[in-house]
Amino acid sequence: MAARVGLVLVGAELLEGRARDANGAWLAREVTARGATLACWSVVGDEEAGIVAALRAAAGQAPLVVVGGGLGPTEDDRTRAGVAAALGVPLVEDAGAWEAIQQALARRSRPALDMQRRQAQVPQGAGWLRNPTGIAPGLCARLGSSEVLVLPGVPSEFREMAAREVLPRVEALPGRVDTALEMVLTVGLPETEVARRLGDLATSSEPVLGWYPHHGEVEVSVRAHGEGAAQRAREVADEVRRRVGDSVLEAPPGGRTQDAVLALLRARRLTLATAESITGGLVAEMLTGVPGASEVLRAGWVAYSEQAKQRELGVPGALLAGPPGAVSAEVAVAMAEGARARAGTDLALATTGVAGPGPWQGPAGSVAAGTAYVAVAQAGQPSRVLTLRAPLERSLVRRRTALLALDLLRRAVMGLPDPQG
Ligand code: ATP
Ligand code: MG
Repeated sequence: MAARVGLVLVGAELLEGRARDANGAWLAREVTARGATLACWSVVGDEEAGIVAALRAAAGQAPLVVVGGGLGPTEDDRTRAGVAAALGVPLVEDAGAWEAIQQALARRSRPALDMQRRQAQVPQGAGWLRNPTGIAPGLCARLGSSEVLVLPGVPSEFREMAAREVLPRVEALPGRVDTALEMVLTVGLPETEVARRLGDLATSSEPVLGWYPHHGEVEVSVRAHGEGAAQRAREVADEVRRRVGDSVLEAPPGGRTQDAVLALLRARRLTLATAESITGGLVAEMLTGVPGASEVLRAGWVAYSEQAKQRELGVPGALLAGPPGAVSAEVAVAMAEGARARAGTDLALATTGVAGPGPWQGPAGSVAAGTAYVAVAQAGQPSRVLTLRAPLERSLVRRRTALLALDLLRRAVMGLPDPQG
């Protein structure tokens, strides 16, 4: 039997989308990292029948089942009753559990209310689990050939108790397989182009490759299994990097384009200014979200109107009055060069474009929504400029523009050619 874990999350707020689940993805990562598989993951409301059905289904698939949530003192928390019903036994008060609840309340100088006795109820014959940070004890029981562990849903309590009660049991499951994961981040290429460049690697069954597109970035995962997994994953990830070429970013683990670009500029001790129109500060926002941004980013302008482009950045009025007009390669370059001169930085980037939804009537004619220009000015080098044509929804046009500007900046610093789509 493979090392499988089942998960049941209980809570009407999760099922109705009023609360965002914080426990499932965390547990899935921890289980996967231990060479086991999350066999199923269901979300049910606070109803006995739904809890019973989900528990039975999970126990049918996995020797270890984790249930999260619904252990509160109020009438709407039904997990204890659901577990008892699945086991076909009554709930009985457990003296040890009641003692633990009273102690937890006493440490908070709170009286033990009668309704809290509900939380000391345990399915007959089952055990309970100490909750070191909260009030509600967990439960442990056997359902058929599976072990069921029930934890409170409060994320800090769920994780704390899962780390102590669940993960050691996962590590003891027979049939685990060593796995290793490498991630490769690419920017500016469509998912299909990344896959085309990978050729036969894309269909390999070991390691297994996965594609995660994020509107302008594509992450490629390389997961290897079994003996030598770490080395095999590393080797194949290196081959992925070689085949994708200069659209691969050197990002720290979990990092994105802005992390890679900031790390690059930091390593080379380069300073940057931003001059943004269509992106309205998005590039500066992305960069300042990265720790250490202050070593690189010195100043940023949001120059939305033509007047601001002229007054703040020194863009010549004749260019704005046009042709070519504000949405043009010439204005993007003038914005970047103006920002660099004013901030006294090594580099500056600029964005100008039409976010949409409608087209923009400029002096050289109508400019379609989704058209943008990004430019980079660099000391001692000619300025570089690129055009984006992305007939997408407004927020995506702005995101694509910001990513293209960051990619052009990276390429300018590294002396790489312009990107090819
Ligand atoms: P306690 O008895 O300590 O209140 P509980 O899990 O038994 O814990 P619940 O009422 O189910 O009681 O959940 C308590 C809080 O935790 C609620 O705010 C709930 O929305 C939140 N919560 C439960 N499950 C999750 C989850 N999977 N992700 C994020 N929050 C959750
Ligand atoms: Mg609940």
